[in-house]
Amino acid sequence: MLSHFKASSHCGVLFIIALVATSCSSSEKFTGFSYDPEGATVTTDKEITPQHERTIGISSDGVWLSNEFAGARMNDFYKLNDSLYQVVLEPENYPINNSPWYAFKVWADSAKTVRLRLKYQHGEHRYYPELSHDGSSWSAIDSASYSQDTLQGTATLKLDLSEKPLWVSAQEVLTIDDYVVWADSLSREPFVWQDTVGFSHQNRPVKKIVINELEDKNRPHGILLITGRMHPPEVTGALASLYFIDELTSDTETANKFRSKFEILAYPLANPDGVQNGHWRHNAAGVDLNRDWIAFNQPETQAIRDDILKHVRSDSQKRIYYGIDFHSTNENIFYPINREIKTFPEDFTYKWVDSLKNAFPDTEFSVEPFDTSSPIAKNWIYRTFGADAVTYEVNDSENRDKIEAIARTSARLVMQNLLEEMKTEMNK
Ligand SMILES: [Zn+2]
Repeated sequence: MLSHFKASSHCGVLFIIALVATSCSSSEKFTGFSYDPEGATVTTDKEITPQHERTIGISSDGVWLSNEFAGARMNDFYKLNDSLYQVVLEPENYPINNSPWYAFKVWADSAKTVRLRLKYQHGEHRYYPELSHDGSSWSAIDSASYSQDTLQGTATLKLDLSEKPLWVSAQEVLTIDDYVVWADSLSREPFVWQDTVGFSHQNRPVKKIVINELEDKNRPHGILLITGRMHPPEVTGALASLYFIDELTSDTETANKFRSKFEILAYPLANPDGVQNGHWRHNAAGVDLNRDWIAFNQPETQAIRDDILKHVRSDSQKRIYYGIDFHSTNENIFYPINREIKTFPEDFTYKWVDSLKNAFPDTEFSVEPFDTSSPIAKNWIYRTFGADAVTYEVNDSENRDKIEAIARTSARLVMQNLLEEMKTEMNK
């Protein structure tokens, strides 16, 4: 979610030309997905309200909800009338970007069909519900059982309940345990290992995955940086990052060659507290981590920055070639660095996204360049190393198989193109 930078400057133009001051006030209604609230770039600790973890129900009706699991969010539950219950969702703190996460379990003492309305404080409905009977395999709710009221900012779900819990969530619930299973399976390769680079506010490890199979550590080699999940609800971007990294470890000619010349440093879960606590956007200090890459007030961003700097500065043969920061929004969109800004390599994102468009002619990919002034991860990579970098945003509602296909193809294109860049550089 980066489009707010454009939105706010647009807002400024309106203000100057037409003096429509109210259009820029913080009480302005959410205008879709391009909303960065006032104060988002102030990244000193803010107060958050932890959700009350509990099972809550209407005992006379025998209907129960619970948020007692990792990644859950459900703040209140009550009965509105004979045919409708209301689930209240609140963010960790506000003002906040409209990424209204919800995840809860619901069940009934005996089989019955209920209607649940999702009602948000400081936000409005955005994510199409995913359902699960086991908390690990998910499918989108049937459209006949779903309605959205865009005026009220609510959604109503018709659910068939039984004694067995039904998970209802904004996206698949993808928490630390899932990352651990994934990382452990990657680490079976002899050239992959994991490290803890620091700890979050709530003392959860911030982990790194290193992929290193260099043919000669004493000769110049490249580094590819990957960051992800600064924003907890952005699960489609998280899935893309896992497939992308997995492809880098594959036993293909391209991947083997790539690993002989490039090292990969990946920090796929930058905001473990936010993910575990079902936050809408922030870490446990109520801060948007992708606005902290100038001030570095937060332990998660500090840990990743310090680890990268230590790694790169330890060896003059290492050079950062490219950085990718994975996110999600309401479309597939890449935010590269403005073409006018000189980076190394030059215009890398534009080249591989052009090839990606050719590989998926029926899929829409937008490219929207940004300047390098904002305090986001991609810009820190550019400002610190002069390297090119991109924010890779995956559509919230993209088909999951397609997310995998696009991410793996992207990884292959990035590897091929980085090898080309290195060849050109070495021949200079
Ligand atoms: Zn994001």
